[in-house]
Amino acid sequence: MNKFADIIETIKKYDRIIILRHQNPDPDALGSQKGLALTLQAAFPQKTILIGGQNAEGLKWLSTMDHIKNDDFKGALVITTDTANTPRVDDDRYDQGDFLIKIDHHPNDEAYGDQLYVNTDASSSSEIIADFIEDCDDLTLTKEAAYYLYAGIVGDTGRFMYPSTTEHTMCVAGRFLALGIDAAGINQKMNEITLQQAKLQGELFDRLKVDESGAAMAVIDDDLMNKLGINQEQANSVVSTPGRLGEVFAWLEAVQKHDDTYRIHLRSKGPVINELAKEHDGGGHPLASGANAKDLEEVDQMYNKLIKIVTDFKKGE
Ligand code: AMP
Repeated sequence: MNKFADIIETIKKYDRIIILRHQNPDPDALGSQKGLALTLQAAFPQKTILIGGQNAEGLKWLSTMDHIKNDDFKGALVITTDTANTPRVDDDRYDQGDFLIKIDHHPNDEAYGDQLYVNTDASSSSEIIADFIEDCDDLTLTKEAAYYLYAGIVGDTGRFMYPSTTEHTMCVAGRFLALGIDAAGINQKMNEITLQQAKLQGELFDRLKVDESGAAMAVIDDDLMNKLGINQEQANSVVSTPGRLGEVFAWLEAVQKHDDTYRIHLRSKGPVINELAKEHDGGGHPLASGANAKDLEEVDQMYNKLIKIVTDFKKGE
């Protein structure tokens, strides 16, 4: 039985389909959203397919959103990709449609939607969309859709570096390349940083605290972002940077927000950090999660917990 059979049957029933994804989108959120939209539009040209959410300034080269009116939601099928929980859906009207489908690869902490498909073994939601296309006779993978799905997989696997990359991930990527997508061009685009972001990397290493356990942390505050002329979204480009240090096992980066609270990015090479994220208004994958801290004191508390997590992990090795 095709594991996506119910979903494709639902899709066939609706004339208007709105595809949403999470706030502060990354390439996987945008890639899975746009890759699915292009695929459905190619298979069902008579349907209206819309993609929604805030545009991501630094990722406009990848995709830009449609303007979706309140009326568009009436009687529509809404599909979310890459969005673990409802507060993270990048459109409050996600529940104003007729039917809601969730497609995701994050832990299913909130099993929302009238239908859902969650596979935490998938490297990315883009990989799931590729599986969906492969499994459904009504759908065909186009070169155009493959471009976006490839970007999503590259984004979430850190260019096939993270342990979430499987044999299947590589096979899926191979199918995209067989269609003739410009993989090197996408890789190059995703590797690019501005001079300011390069300077931020230097500042980050200057500020990085590295504990003897292998836990590390850095704060990127307003003063630094103003000095370099970058915003919060651009600051996110250095989130994976501390992991390049061999002695660092898990790390957090705290980026100051306009309301003086902090967006926390947690990353790990082994110790599980998503429970820590959940304790601080966040969540995500075992090795990559996001959270929030109201002030620097809470950031320090999180760092101390991270030190304990890494220490316990090493004892258990
Ligand atoms: P970030 O550090 O914001 O890049 O997030 C890392 C990963 O955790 C991404 O896959 C996010 O989608 C996920 N994530 C971030 N915040 C949350 C949250 N509040 N709930 C669930 N997943 C999250």
